[in-house]
Amino acid sequence: MSQVPTEIPWNLLASQSVIKRAPLVKIEHLRISRAGILGIVQRVSDPNLTRIVTITHDGLCTCSCEGSYNNVCSHLLAVLMLAAIRAPQETINIIRYVLGEEKPLRNAYIPTTDLLNFNSLVGGIPVGALFGIFGVPATNKSLLSLQLSYTMFGFGANALLVDTEGGSGAHSLPFWVERFNKRYGLDVQIVEVKYDWEKLTWKLDPTEEKIPKDKPIFFVVDLRMIHKVLSFHGVQCHLEITEPKKKKDKEGVVIDEEGGGKISIRLKSFEDNIKRTPIGQLVDKFNIKYIIYDSITNPQELFVSGQLNFPGRDDAQGLWFQQIQEIAQEFNATIMGIFHASRSPTDQYDTHGHPVGGKAVGHNFKYLLSIERFQGAMGAKPMGTDIGNKGQYINFRKIVMLRHPTKAPFSERYTLELKDSGFWDAKFEPQDEK
Ligand SMILES: [Zn+2]
Repeated sequence: MSQVPTEIPWNLLASQSVIKRAPLVKIEHLRISRAGILGIVQRVSDPNLTRIVTITHDGLCTCSCEGSYNNVCSHLLAVLMLAAIRAPQETINIIRYVLGEEKPLRNAYIPTTDLLNFNSLVGGIPVGALFGIFGVPATNKSLLSLQLSYTMFGFGANALLVDTEGGSGAHSLPFWVERFNKRYGLDVQIVEVKYDWEKLTWKLDPTEEKIPKDKPIFFVVDLRMIHKVLSFHGVQCHLEITEPKKKKDKEGVVIDEEGGGKISIRLKSFEDNIKRTPIGQLVDKFNIKYIIYDSITNPQELFVSGQLNFPGRDDAQGLWFQQIQEIAQEFNATIMGIFHASRSPTDQYDTHGHPVGGKAVGHNFKYLLSIERFQGAMGAKPMGTDIGNKGQYINFRKIVMLRHPTKAPFSERYTLELKDSGFWDAKFEPQDEK
């Protein structure tokens, strides 16, 4: 069964034309690891630009070229062909899953939280996995991810908040850490990580010598732009933004601009060994087991100003997600990604909305939790003092799973109640107002 066939059935994976093109694809970088396969390949149209291929261990494939989700393109096939030479056994196992054989289900250790409703829904906090929380603004998704970190602090691990929106480090984090410290009887300390994205070094505030050894630490790093985020993950790149075409009048004054703003990423260097990346060094050194990205969406907002920019986003996202996977696997860390939500107005089944970011989100985040307010006047913000029955569920949040390894989407729903000390299990399940 586990014998490596001498011939891999490439023709089951891709069409003849793709099989012919694949050997022409130049592969700049190939990594085969516990997180799966990562390939950086050259674009045929411009060898200075790249395509990013990722293949998870359970056979989910992405390539940053358009329209290739689980359709094997020449880039993907080229990466698999090289992987088959470098690591035949591992590659054939992955190919079995690509071809649609039963996916493996790892029985990971899952710590449970003090929120029974959360435990019932999810099972606990998955270790070595990527967990996404999405919701519209003011659903307190960040707060839920902060609160869950206390389960991990309770086990003696540390946590890291990668703040990509600005402000968490300065404002809401100290406020909630103080409240959660009281609630959970811990003395969690906040340490700021100051990252120099050009030198690839970080400094701590307070300095390393002054960090108490016997207390849990919440590290916070403020990284707002995608190239800084990527740099922190060992990916150095230039962002290239095309200039708009300028129409000028006879005097040379610009009267109109057209196009432009298309973004591509030119890769400068890539650190293959996650332990040598800036984030990897931090996680390794300080026993960080819980990492929050708040948010995953914001650094990529740059790309969404037009459809044409999506390939640039997929390059960046592919590299970033693959490095995050690597951290989860290498350090047995839980990754919490906060996503903005969007709703498709034409899709009647999209009632809960979905995380912003395309299909790669679902491929990488095996757990996706939606957090929602109650609809109608019951969940509405009360106006003035005339509350009456209105707004009585204003502090209640529905939690449902869009993605879970063993559960159907939205098959169960639970409710949490927000109080001054964070989330608690709701004592009853309120209903939406019809
Ligand atoms: Zn491709």
